[in-house]
Amino acid sequence: MSNTKAWRQKRRTTKPNARQKRNGLFLDAHPFCQGCCCHQAREAHHELPRGHDDRYDWRFMMALCVACHVLRHRALSAS
Ligand SMILES: [Zn+2]
Ligand SMILES: [Zn+2]
Ligand SMILES: [Zn+2]
Repeated sequence: MSNTKAWRQKRRTTKPNARQKRNGLFLDAHPFCQGCCCHQAREAHHELPRGHDDRYDWRFMMALCVACHVLRHRALSAS
């Protein structure tokens, strides 16, 4: 194996990583924003911090539109 690095880079760009895939499935199942219920959900919000075992548990995720996602983070950082 002489070209491991190039091979790795190629794989990363041709298929979505685990995070993108899991967030995509979540948004497919939750088409509407759970914050305002009137916009299309665009982003998956995680209530739990990075590295937490249950971070990808849907019970601890929220499907949000961009505006609600920004508000959510503003509310979290303000507290
Ligand atoms: Zn919203
Ligand atoms: Zn809305
Ligand atoms: Zn978020």
